[in-house]
Amino acid sequence: MSDVRQGVWPSPIDDPYANEVTQPFWDAAADGRLLGYRCDGCGTFISPPPPRCFQCQGTAFTWVDLPGGGTIYSFTVVRHPLAPYLQAAVPYVSAVVELDGTQGAGARLLVNVIDCDPDGVQIGDRVEVTFEKVSETLTVPRFRPRLG
Ligand SMILES: [Zn+2]
Repeated sequence: MSDVRQGVWPSPIDDPYANEVTQPFWDAAADGRLLGYRCDGCGTFISPPPPRCFQCQGTAFTWVDLPGGGTIYSFTVVRHPLAPYLQAAVPYVSAVVELDGTQGAGARLLVNVIDCDPDGVQIGDRVEVTFEKVSETLTVPRFRPRLG
């Protein structure tokens, strides 16, 4: 488990919950790249990877690099520690981010927004991905306010 720092949700795991479909996402994260899962049939990005595209029912998908920016679609500020050891982590921001380079609605990630004032976060804020290596096999994508 990683150190508990204010504003940062510590990863409770050391290995990603991955399978042959999702492992490329985690491999890319370890390499500092954010991937999106795109339908080969119609180009729709979908997150998390589904068995079928919700637009065209296609079953073929390709992981592609995304630019790494995003927009806060929704968020909450967690102020109550869910376990005693999380006392040092609160308050932290948990947000749904629409990913740049996708069509938006189907490609959102639930992420921890770090390096921010939790009381200043707003829907529509621009953010960018940053990666935190928490173990030899797990690198967690987080987002932080985008400057400029
Ligand atoms: Zn499709």
